[in-house]
Amino acid sequence: MKPSLSRRNLVAGNWKMYYAPEKAQAWVEQYIQEYPTNAVFQIEIALHVPFPFITHMCNILSKYTPVQIGAQNVAFAYEGPYTGEVSASMLRAAGARYCIIGHSERRQLFYETDEQIVTKIELVQREEILPILCVGETAEERQANRTQKVITKQLELIFEKQEDLDLKYLTVAYEPVWAIGSGKPATPEQAQEIHAFIRELFRQECGPEMANRIAIIYGGSVNTENAGKFFEQPDIDGALVGGASLNGHSFFEIQQQLQQIKYPTPPLPN
Ligand code: PEP
Repeated sequence: MKPSLSRRNLVAGNWKMYYAPEKAQAWVEQYIQEYPTNAVFQIEIALHVPFPFITHMCNILSKYTPVQIGAQNVAFAYEGPYTGEVSASMLRAAGARYCIIGHSERRQLFYETDEQIVTKIELVQREEILPILCVGETAEERQANRTQKVITKQLELIFEKQEDLDLKYLTVAYEPVWAIGSGKPATPEQAQEIHAFIRELFRQECGPEMANRIAIIYGGSVNTENAGKFFEQPDIDGALVGGASLNGHSFFEIQQQLQQIKYPTPPLPN
């Protein structure tokens, strides 16, 4: 049952660095076939594709379905001599409506810092792009009982800079690093525990209204078999889906599960 009238629900796909253009085209055809023309979704749906696909995917997908296109990263500066980087205003011009920020692959492989991450959130929000901030612990950190400490640290600067950010439109993705791409998801109960902890941090730092409103989604080996169990948890507002978003059917089915669980009464047709 929907826990709050004002809380957003979201399924976000992350294609990472997969798919040549022909495969992306085939995915779209598959997804559009799946998509019933009279379907009305009350949830948000975002698909994060590689930079060069953003405009094309907006043109062919956002026209026919409620899927908005997002980027998987953004530069940490407004503009400047940053060879190879793509700015928030460029993403906006390309058509992106969402942006994943601080994914564990970027934190680990590209040494992204919490300072850069908070700057990126500020920059995309200036362009009215919705940020999805990823947080989560490694297997070693969980074994050492440090999960809550790690997440508190990852969110510290967000709370410090909350005056400069529009936290109402932030989505937090709890993604335990050990669950990403491993086929070994957290249990729904483990995820719920950390989601409730994150919501409590928002309550302490920003007040009850923000805590109730902030969208917190789970990521890490979500698929059509397990998604519903996550969505039944009161503090899980959706999912960030990597591998399973590479299949149009699965991506669609996960969205349907979120819609049915959080909004059990179907919307009236337009
Ligand atoms: C991800 O890319 O953020 C992710 C959660 O991947 P997967 O669903 O494949 O674990």
